Amino acid sequence: MKISLTINLKQAIAFSLGLFLANITFAQKSEKPKLILQITVDQLRGDLPTKFIKNMGEGGFRYLMQNGVWYNNAHYGHANTETVVGHTTLATGADPAVHGMISNVWLNRETGKLSYNIEDTNYHILSEGSDVDEDTELDSSQKLASTDGRSPSNIMVTTFSDELTLTTNGKAKIFGVSVKDRGAVTLAGHTGKAFWFSKNSNEFITSSYYYDKNPQWVNRWNKSKKPLQYSNKAWELSIDQSKYMFGKQDDQPWEVDVAGFGTTFPHQYGAADSKYLGNFLIYSPAGDELTLDFSKALIVAEDLGKDDVTDFLAISFSSTDYVGHLFGPSSLEAEDNMLRLDKTLADLFSFIDEHIGLENTLIVLSADHGGPEAPGYLKSMGIESGYVSPEKWDKEPAIKNLKAEFGIGQELILDFFPPYIYLNHKIIEEKKLDLAAIQLAIAKELMKTKGIALAVSSEALQNNNMPDTYLYNKALKNFNYKRSGDILILLSPQYFFNDFDGEIVAANHGGPWMYDSYVPVVFAGWNFKGQQISRRIDPKDIAITLSIIMNTKTPSGADGEVLIEIINK
Ligand SMILES: [Zn+2]
Repeated sequence: MKISLTINLKQAIAFSLGLFLANITFAQKSEKPKLILQITVDQLRGDLPTKFIKNMGEGGFRYLMQNGVWYNNAHYGHANTETVVGHTTLATGADPAVHGMISNVWLNRETGKLSYNIEDTNYHILSEGSDVDEDTELDSSQKLASTDGRSPSNIMVTTFSDELTLTTNGKAKIFGVSVKDRGAVTLAGHTGKAFWFSKNSNEFITSSYYYDKNPQWVNRWNKSKKPLQYSNKAWELSIDQSKYMFGKQDDQPWEVDVAGFGTTFPHQYGAADSKYLGNFLIYSPAGDELTLDFSKALIVAEDLGKDDVTDFLAISFSSTDYVGHLFGPSSLEAEDNMLRLDKTLADLFSFIDEHIGLENTLIVLSADHGGPEAPGYLKSMGIESGYVSPEKWDKEPAIKNLKAEFGIGQELILDFFPPYIYLNHKIIEEKKLDLAAIQLAIAKELMKTKGIALAVSSEALQNNNMPDTYLYNKALKNFNYKRSGDILILLSPQYFFNDFDGEIVAANHGGPWMYDSYVPVVFAGWNFKGQQISRRIDPKDIAITLSIIMNTKTPSGADGEVLIEIINK
C-alpha cells in the first residue's frame, strides 16, 4: 500500500512536471505575430539592394540587412519569370505547372482569344471610369483584358492567405494592395480582399468579387485626390547628381521615352487632366509612394494587427518593374528609384512600428522575378546581346516549307505570347494532321533560329520525353496541360523578345536565366536576428514556411522546403 502510494506520488509529480514542461514549450510556440506583412517588389533582382546601399538611409533596406534573415541566393525554378507567375508562386508555394498561372496571358482555346490572367467576366470593377484605357495603356498583357472583370478564380490552388482564413474560421483579416491588379489579387488569394490602382481614374479600385460597394475608407482616400498632388511636378533626383553610380549616364541611347515622360531628369508628371498622369505616376517612385499611402489608410481603417488573430497584408510595389523596363536597371532612373524605394520601405516600417510594433509583425520581402541588364548596356560593356522577332516566324522559309509539306496554306501559328506559340488547331484538325508531329517539326525548325536556346513541344513535355537538364526542368515546372501553348520558346542568355506592345523597351524579363530568376528573400521584424544565408533556396519556400509558423495546413499545391533558419529562430 505504502509502496504503491509512493509510486503514485512519483508518477503524479512526473506527470505534472511533464505537463508543466509541455505547457512551457507550447506557450513559446503559440506566440504568433499580430500581422504578417508580405512585401513584393516587382522586378527587384537579388543584387540591387546591396548594389545601391551606399546612398541608402537606416530604416529601409539597411534595417532588413542588419535585423533580418536575408537569403542572398534565392532563385525561382520556373521558366517564365513574369509578374503573375512569380506573385502566384509567392502566394501559393507552388510552381506554375501546379498553380496554373503559367503566363501573364494565355490562349483561351474555348474563345480562341488571348486572355488576361486574372480576368473574370463575372466580377466587374466597382468604380466607374476605371477600366483599362486602350489608348494610353502600355502594358501589353494588361491591354489584352477584354473586360474590366477581375478575380482570383484562375488560381488553381489555395494560397497561404487562404489557409490563414481557414485556420481562423474567417477571423483573420486578409488584404492585398498593389498598383498592378495581378500584384494584389494573387496574394489576397481566394478569401482576402484586393485593391489596385487605376491609371485611368487615378483611384484605388476593387471588383464585385470582393465587395458589393467600396468600403467608406476607400472612397475617402480616393476623394482626397492624392495622386493629383503630383501634377505639375516632376520626378527629381533625391541627392546630389555627383553622388550616384550612374550620375554621368542620365541619357543612355537605349532608354525609352514614353509619351513625353523623357529619358532625363527631371521627368515631368504633366497637368492634372493629362491622360498620361496615371501612367507617369507608376513609371516613377510616385506609384510606390501612393501604394504606401493607401496601405497606411487600410491598416488604420481595418484595425490590422489589433487583436489575438493574426492578420495578413500583402503589398506589391510595382515602380521598380516599370523603371526597369523603360530605363534598364543600370540607369540613373533605376538608381534613384532604389533610393526612393528605400525611403518608402523605411516609412512603412516606422508606421508599422508605431501602430502595431515591429516585434509583433512578421515581415517577409521578396520579388516576383529579377530582370536583365538592357541589351544596349551589355553591348557597351562588350557582352553579346540581341533581340528575337517572333512576328517573322510564320514567314520564315523553314516554316513555309513545313506548311507546304503538311499542305497548309493559312497561318499555322495562331498566336504568340511569350513564352508560348499557339498553333491553329482548327486547320490541323480539318486537315486531319498529327498535332504532335507538327509541334515537333516547328520546334525543330525554330531551334535553328539565332537567339533561341530551346523550343519544346507540349507533347514532349506532357510525355516527359526529355533529358534532365537545366532548361527542360524549368520548362516542366512551367507546363500546365490545360493552359500552356503548343510550343515553349526559351531564348539564349542575354537575348530578348523585342516586343512591349510593338515598342522596343530598354529591358525585358521573362526568361529562364539567373538574372531573371534571382530575387531577395528576407524575413524581418518579429524578433528575427540579423543573419545572411547563402544556401540556394526557392521563393516558393516562403508559403510553406509561413504555414508551419502559423500551424495552418499546407496550401494545396505548396511543395517547397521549410526554411529552417526561420522556424528555429
Ligand atoms: Zn513583375
